[in-house]
Formats: sequence, structure tokens, C-alpha cells
Amino acid sequence: MQATTPLRFNTCLLCNSPMLTDMPIYAKDKLTRCRNCGFVFARQIPTQQELITEYAKYARTRTLSVITANRYKQLLNLFEPYRKLNRLIDVGAGEGHFIEIAAQMQWITYATEFDPRAVELCRQKGAIVQEGKLNADNYPAGFFDLIFSSEVMEHINNPIEEVQNFYQILRPGGLVYVTTPNFNALSHLLLKNRWNVFNYPEHLCYYTPKTLTRLFTNCGFKLVKLQTTGISPTRLAASGGKLPVLGSNDEALRQATETKPLWQFAKFTANALLNLTRKGDTIKAWFEKER
Ligand SMILES: [Zn+2]
Repeated sequence: MQATTPLRFNTCLLCNSPMLTDMPIYAKDKLTRCRNCGFVFARQIPTQQELITEYAKYARTRTLSVITANRYKQLLNLFEPYRKLNRLIDVGAGEGHFIEIAAQMQWITYATEFDPRAVELCRQKGAIVQEGKLNADNYPAGFFDLIFSSEVMEHINNPIEEVQNFYQILRPGGLVYVTTPNFNALSHLLLKNRWNVFNYPEHLCYYTPKTLTRLFTNCGFKLVKLQTTGISPTRLAASGGKLPVLGSNDEALRQATETKPLWQFAKFTANALLNLTRKGDTIKAWFEKER
């Protein structure tokens, strides 16, 4: 059998500059850094087969915890001022936990999802689901009040096309809520290439508050707010970090923090400090389509 040379990008996915420097300590994850804009991404382009093999590993059995349900309710309450057409779309909806809560709050829910098992779960929760990647031409222009994109941007290597799609389907003044791992996270600083967010071909793009903001503002959005939150003890432990592990898993820790005032205070302080320095594990950003 003839070995085929993997396909690689020759220019930056955000700014199109050819000034790419491969990052040797991240060779396993094929990372390169753009010397023009600082964006970090997997230079190698995964084959369809690599992606199918990777995503077949995903378990689709997670149940929605009360805590997550409450978080989604709080978030949806914050989205209320954007509700005009009453339509939202969850891009990469997974098992459909967010749309389940949104539907309970009387939103008309749409979703996209690759995994056929997840598509079925989303349909059972009442969403109108498009299988595969987001295709803006499947919807009228300006159709949605809200686009929910949680932990998706790191999985795709066509960021500009994705955000242009968002722009087309969102109404003027509508909101994109996006979360993605933070390449500038303290966890990454401590663990370097052992940070278990690094995982080719599952994760292909690594944003910082700056590169994520530039991506959206270059496509006609304005930044409303951006926070970074959280240090995940499980993630640190799974990465082989030698840092103190506070709970056996994140859910246990969350339970503790949600029920004990002292824990709540400690967590609040940690998040506030991380946010000040923009070093939390996750970027959470709100971008509005210009009116
Ligand atoms: Zn660049």
C-alpha cells in the first residue's frame, strides 16, 4: 500500500498569512502558530476516516444533571432581551441538553449535529435538526435571535466560514454565545503539552480571548462581553498534573460548591481572579451582530 502524505494548511486559518511556525512540543497534535496574528491550530488536515474513528468514541449516554439544567436556565434568562423572533439554534448540540431546557422555556429550537445517535436524541427533545455541519443556506437570512455554540469552535478548522454562516442566519442585533477552551489558561501554562485539551484530531483550533474576538469582529460582530472561567480539577488530574485535586470529579466539586457557602466563596474568588487575568480554562463570549 502506498502511504499518502497528509494534507496540511500553508496559511493561517484566521488571517491567511503564510508565516506559520510549527510547534515541536505539540508535534503530537500537529500544532502551528501564526507569526502574524498569534493563532494556534492543527496544521494537518484530518481525513474523513480519522474523524469518523475519533467521533465514534463519543459516549452518548450522559444525562442532564440538575446543576447543569439550572445553569442553562440562568443563561437563558440572560438571553431574554434577545428574544424577538423566538428561534434559537444550538450548533453542535450533542445530546440536546441545552435545547431541552430552551424548549421548556418556549423557544422554538433548531440544532445541528454530526453524530446520528445525537441527532435522534435532539429530535426526541423537539428540535428541528440538520445533520452534519452548519449550512447557512438551509435557513432564511436573519432567521435566529440566538446562536449557541458551546465547545464546538475547537473542533472545526474552517472558522471564518463558520462565523460567516452565523452572520447570515442571525438577525441584526442577534447574539452568538460561544464557549471554547482557552489556550492562555493557567492549566495550560502549568501542564504544557500534557493539558488534556490537546487531542488531535478531535481538537483542531486553540483560541485565546484575543484571537477569538478578532475572528468575530472581522466578520461583522461586536464583542458584548468575554469571560474566562474555571479550573477543572479533573482535567488537571487526567493530564497528570501534580497539583492538588480538590474532588474526585468535577460534578462532586460542583455539588460541594453549590451547597457550601465557604466553597462558594472560594470558587467565586478563584473565578474572579482567573477572569481578571483571563487565565481560566474556558472562554465564554457574547458577540452581537451589528445592527
Ligand atoms: Zn494569522
